[in-house]
Amino acid sequence: MSNRAPRVAVVGGGLAGLSAALALAERGCAVELFEARRNLGGRAGSFVDKTTGETIDHCQHVAMGCCMNYLDFCRRVGALPYLRRVRTLHFFAPDGRRCDFRGSQWLPSPLHLAGGLLRLSFLTLAERVSIGRALLRLARVPPPALSQTALLQTAPPQTAMPQTVGKWLQQQRQSPRQIERFWSVVLVSALGENIERASLAAARKVFVDGFMATPAAYEVYVPTVPLSTIYDTFVARKLRDLGVEVHLERPVERLDGEENGVKALVLRSGEQRTFDAYMIAVPWRSVSRILAPPLAAAIPQLRHIAELPAAPISAVHLWFDRQIARLDHAVLVGRLSQWVFSRGRMTSSNASPTDGYYYQVVISASRDVVDAGRDETIARVCGDLAAVFPDARRAKLLHARVVTDRDAVFAPSAQWESFRPSQRTSVANLFLCGDWTATGWPATMESAVRSGRLAAEGVLAAAGTECASEPLVTPDLPRGWLARWLIK
Ligand SMILES: Cc1cc2nc3c(=O)[nH]c(=O)nc-3n(C[C@H](O)[C@H](O)[C@H](O)COP(=O)(O)OP(=O)(O)OC[C@H]3O[C@@H](n4cnc5c(N)ncnc54)[C@H](O)[C@@H]3O)c2cc1C
Repeated sequence: MSNRAPRVAVVGGGLAGLSAALALAERGCAVELFEARRNLGGRAGSFVDKTTGETIDHCQHVAMGCCMNYLDFCRRVGALPYLRRVRTLHFFAPDGRRCDFRGSQWLPSPLHLAGGLLRLSFLTLAERVSIGRALLRLARVPPPALSQTALLQTAPPQTAMPQTVGKWLQQQRQSPRQIERFWSVVLVSALGENIERASLAAARKVFVDGFMATPAAYEVYVPTVPLSTIYDTFVARKLRDLGVEVHLERPVERLDGEENGVKALVLRSGEQRTFDAYMIAVPWRSVSRILAPPLAAAIPQLRHIAELPAAPISAVHLWFDRQIARLDHAVLVGRLSQWVFSRGRMTSSNASPTDGYYYQVVISASRDVVDAGRDETIARVCGDLAAVFPDARRAKLLHARVVTDRDAVFAPSAQWESFRPSQRTSVANLFLCGDWTATGWPATMESAVRSGRLAAEGVLAAAGTECASEPLVTPDLPRGWLARWLIK
């Protein structure tokens, strides 16, 4: 590549592709983005529910206060005011008791969590203290090195699987009740996977960076508008203002080339386009299919990537004839239903008889939902809501929809961590991004945005542009003195 601002093709309009396109366009690159669907946002997208006429998300997405790159991305496109910051998390015990968790503003991290943890009265005092001790031991577990080193790895490791968080919790003498009522509640929703499969490293990331390292890390940001408003309106407008050509419904068939470089991008329509750099921002199951065989062969760690397992996430969308809870969110402990979000009264564009109060229940690692099917899942979820919210017992269900993404996220196993490829590849003008690449983060919007920025850094460095040495990744929140001392 010459050292003028390069012309870059981005394949995929999910968060990874969008953040890469934005970072490159902000630095003067000529970017064209090709997205197969008619909407931007990828897995974090929305659709129109035919019955109500409302635009709803496939699944409610939330970010945490530690998601510095995602929040910065939203700020840059003007969408930050549409994320509601939640500092008190409402937990509901199996018997329906409400326990509010809120971090202290005054105590240094990680002591800021102590009061919130002590308020979780669905655990005994001894259980809460022992959880606190285990959290401190988790903070002393050394973090894994980022798997940028995976470049030479060509097959899944044959050695014994490194530790899962489930095994580690047993070693820490955490009881099944503590696991069910605390550890799983946090981990399953943060990782999209259960503790028997998730790696210790992934769990450490959630608790240390997401809760213990800084006081604001645990806060939750909930969009107040459909995700499509953020990506199809705010992001698309910003990209177009910066001169990015966004091509919707333009699936890329393949990238042609040899191991020394990509030669052309071929659209499904047959049209061929050439660029200085090519960035693939599609899910891990699709990436090898897009690369011509010599290109795929040049990146050994892609050889087995399509076989690596995924974890499902389900969203149960419910419209009731009345308000069932006067809260914007709830975390249900020890139930199939994990997070409940309320969007309040919806009045559909077609004034349908389903106008009512819209709730969404999110179930991560939802293999039970896949097995149970739609009707049984809705019945169980309504049963959960009735057990916790008295008004739900009298409410009439007007309309319901279950949306399950079986390949929602990669299963955050230790095997996966050793496989995540770097955003820079051995092919000079080919870059990878996506939540599945090496970011050190579980499959989240933060991982996707980080990966896009890391890939953009690679493009700028390869082009030798003036801003090549400028880091594009927003740094983590600074840790206080106690956290620096306690966390390895
Ligand atoms: C149900 C569910 C709930 C989730 N909840 C949360 C949450 O609460 N918080 C959180 O942080 N994360 C959550 N996630 C994870 C988050 O959605 C993803 O980590 C993130 O959106 C991934 O972004 P991405 O750009 O890497 O991939 P994707 O969003 O998958 O984007 C890839 C894009 O590439 C396009 N594409 C594919 N093939 C081609 C082709 N040949 N040509 C052109 N385009 C192509 C696709 O259409 C897609 O738009 C959730 C995911 C799911 C599925």
